[in-house]
Amino acid sequence: MTTRGRPEADLPAVMAGPAPWARLAACRAAPDVDFFAEAPEEVARAKAVCEGCRVRLSCLEASLYEPYGVWGGLDVRARRRLRRSRQAAA
Ligand code: SF4
Repeated sequence: MTTRGRPEADLPAVMAGPAPWARLAACRAAPDVDFFAEAPEEVARAKAVCEGCRVRLSCLEASLYEPYGVWGGLDVRARRRLRRSRQAAA
């Protein structure tokens, strides 16, 4: 799949897959933002892109088990907390 300004290798599998919403992902148009970085300032930049993304919720559901990076506006720890809170509520 062709991306707008971002190599496929920089995206997690859920973003490179066939989901229609993935084509609308704001991160595809942000090649200068590293969604796998660990430095706090880079994580904040990634989260800022997610904040303005119109497919954030779809992305979050699809990436809930991604082991690295910022996806759906959440970092790894936040996704883990969300999974646990959902499991506790089930
Ligand atoms: S929420 Fe963030 S990681 Fe997910 S598609 Fe949007 S910009 Fe990309």
